[in-house]
Amino acid sequence: MTREEQVGERFGRLVVVEEMEMKRRWQRRVLVRCDCGTEKGVRLTSLTSGNTKSCGCLQKELIALRGLVHGHTARKVITSEYAAWRAMLQRCLNARHRAWRNYGGRGITVCDRWRDFKNFLADMGHKPSPDHSLDRIDNNAGYSKENCKWSTSSEQNRNRRMTPTFLENIQRAQRQRAQQVRAMRQQGGGPVA
Ligand SMILES: [Zn+2]
Repeated sequence: MTREEQVGERFGRLVVVEEMEMKRRWQRRVLVRCDCGTEKGVRLTSLTSGNTKSCGCLQKELIALRGLVHGHTARKVITSEYAAWRAMLQRCLNARHRAWRNYGGRGITVCDRWRDFKNFLADMGHKPSPDHSLDRIDNNAGYSKENCKWSTSSEQNRNRRMTPTFLENIQRAQRQRAQQVRAMRQQGGGPVA
């Protein structure tokens, strides 16, 4: 396999950025970028073997989650908040996520504090109900304690930002209207400016 072929390849949360200099013969090393933003060097074989799937953040999250769901805490509720947190990270940090274009792709970020699920849960608290989901108050600002709340889907729809397609449709209609007006003027009729 040539070196270039591995660049851009994904292993779990890690994407290969570039080949690194070998420290020992037969031990190819690559620089990888994790979905959480961390970059580090790893042995290529640890990726291809499936042993390494993140910079270490995945293990930390799982340990934190295990601590949280331990004991008498409502396991189901926490799983739901954890899912919301994971989905938020994916939308903002994983360029391969289907919704990334509308989040990470247009500069919507997750504050540093919320890269850790424990902090996210501490700031947001539990979902008031299963119908609630994570909502941003200002749709052009990122995910942080100040800009987020749990909302029901009907509350969210009320302040949903205009989608690019919707805006494009309005702009197209305005252009068509302007063309019609010009055409009418050229024919000597229609409204006079
Ligand atoms: Zn990571």
